[in-house]
Amino acid sequence: MKNQSINVRRIFFLNSIIFILVSYILFGTYLLKNESSLFKANKITVDVSLSALIEPPAHLKVISTILFFHDVYLHKETLVVANSPRSENTVIIPFRTLLINTLVDLVAPITALFVVLLILIMCMTLINIKKYNSKLKPVYQKVDALLKSFDDNYQEIKNKGGLIYLETALDNLKEQTANHKAKREEDGICDKLTTLLDRHAYMDHISREIEISTQTGRKSGLLFIDLDGFKRVNDSFGHSFGDEVLVQVSDRLRSVIRSQGLEFKETSLDLEYNLARLGGDEFSIFIQDLTSSEEAIRIASHVLQELERDFLLGNKNIKISASIGIAIYPDSAATPNALLQMADVAMYRAKAHGRGVYRIYTPEMGSEMRRYHYLLEEIRLAINSNSFSLNYQPIIHVDGYTISYFEALVRWHHPSEGYIRPSEFIPIAEDSNLILALGDWVLDEACRQMASWYNAGMKKSRMSVNVSGVQLKHRSLYSWIMSTLSKTNLPASSLMIEITESCFIEASEDIILALEKLRAEGIMIAIDDFGTGFSSLSLLADLPIDILKIDQLFISKAMNNIKYKKILCSIVTMAEQLELKVVAEGIEQIDQLDLLKSLGVAYIQGYLISHPQSSDYIAKKIFQKNLSILAQIGTSIWKPE
Ligand code: C2E
Ligand code: MG
Ligand code: MG
Repeated sequence: MKNQSINVRRIFFLNSIIFILVSYILFGTYLLKNESSLFKANKITVDVSLSALIEPPAHLKVISTILFFHDVYLHKETLVVANSPRSENTVIIPFRTLLINTLVDLVAPITALFVVLLILIMCMTLINIKKYNSKLKPVYQKVDALLKSFDDNYQEIKNKGGLIYLETALDNLKEQTANHKAKREEDGICDKLTTLLDRHAYMDHISREIEISTQTGRKSGLLFIDLDGFKRVNDSFGHSFGDEVLVQVSDRLRSVIRSQGLEFKETSLDLEYNLARLGGDEFSIFIQDLTSSEEAIRIASHVLQELERDFLLGNKNIKISASIGIAIYPDSAATPNALLQMADVAMYRAKAHGRGVYRIYTPEMGSEMRRYHYLLEEIRLAINSNSFSLNYQPIIHVDGYTISYFEALVRWHHPSEGYIRPSEFIPIAEDSNLILALGDWVLDEACRQMASWYNAGMKKSRMSVNVSGVQLKHRSLYSWIMSTLSKTNLPASSLMIEITESCFIEASEDIILALEKLRAEGIMIAIDDFGTGFSSLSLLADLPIDILKIDQLFISKAMNNIKYKKILCSIVTMAEQLELKVVAEGIEQIDQLDLLKSLGVAYIQGYLISHPQSSDYIAKKIFQKNLSILAQIGTSIWKPE
């Protein structure tokens, strides 16, 4: 490029020199010619004697020599040219007249010369440009190829206007590389599916912001957002559908960030730093300069509202809710990681409180969480070291107190904690799927125990085993139960399974089919804790169930509340019509028994009859007395003590 401009300059310089030289010669020749013609014309000449002429000063002499004149004099203070200064008298012309005349005569040829030269320069410049352009062609091609590689839709310009085009193309290239660099930086820190910031970059951002908050003494807030039932969406509609839900959720969260004025962008990247996808169905929002916890609550409520609106995917309308945990810096935690962890703890609490709600972290949540993780490890150890045992609670028929079945209830005597209630450890085992291993052991042990009592004469009573929702989902129900029966040599007619009402509501078609098959084998199925899960009553007609176990809470309410009593009454009537047996759980007092008897409930379970007992205790009680009855009716009698 530089060479090209040097060449152009050289040509221009050379042409100018030629132009000046030619003009000079032309001018000189003309001047001389004009002089003689003017003298001949004799119009403006003056005859003077030579003595009237004075030699001019040196500088005028030099000028006249340059202009080819030698006979230049001063006459009456005017510069004149003399015709023949060697004779006594001579003819003179004022130099100025001679010069003006000559210049006037020269304008036309010099202008023509100038135009010719100008055309010459232009032609040469054009030739040069053409030459350079052809040399630049491979450069254009390379630049075009580069631009095309950045942008598939890039339109090549046909008339490439020399260096100007190249400059524009290079500017374009510069812009594209800058965009590309920014994109690469973005790709490195954002989640591919939702294009939200990823966990790592988000934590870096929070660390920086918290450092600033520490200096300014301001608070910050962090929302941990977890979608409710997202796994079910994935399982029911497939992963690409689930991905689409996550993308739509991200868009809604982006709109919350905008509407709540929470934006934070780094100058070079088009990424929102206060919003991140932490992984799976977990998202988080960071709030700088939090004025009060009410502000965090307001934003969390807004997020819940946004996510509760129906999601439209293809032709499907689905509902998604979320649970939100809120942690506040520095009240809840002192480091970014701890802040996220505490928000996570609060989120779990929100999930436990019925989902679709938010919870703010409190210190006791932290100790609950530590207990949760401690018990989780202890359950794992207890399963491996076979430290669980089973107790059995009889369910009796109100007429004659004959044992209808025993419910197997798992017991855990922890080496240092002592007795830990199932209501504390079963949910943890379910959350972590440890219930699968534990549940396998419970079914084996309960069937083994019942098989030994069956062989001892208890042919007409059953063993009832609780099966949780996690087991229903992850075990292939039919083969799991049937293989346990054959392994323990227990007839199907001696087994019953209890499934809570809430699990029934969520049960898939496959689970219902497996339950129907088990029923066909002779296994009884009970709906447990009925009255707590808000199932519709029509569910009872559709499900493969034999027994309705009414939750103790419902029964204790019916004792004091006439409305509950009426509902209880209609449940019993309806169950009768559907040919379902009704069991009342948690009967502790005689007046409860009387009420249930009066309502027509035939089966009773509760401390009034017996607490859950060890197998030794039960064996003693049923096989020491009433042996003749056992032989007659295939079960025993269990009277309250
Ligand atoms: P559930 O299946 O409804 O079991 C009945 C619960 O009520 C048992 O509590 C039993 O001890 C208690 N109970 C019985 N009669 C009375 C009474 O008169 N008054 C009171 N207050 N309580 C009574 P437990 O053994 O603490 O078990 C609690 C829950 O833990 C069970 O409720 C069941 O959902 C679960 N569970 C227990 N064992 C297992 C098991 O092996 N597998 C699974 N998946 N869940 C189990
Ligand atoms: Mg039960
Ligand atoms: Mg129950």
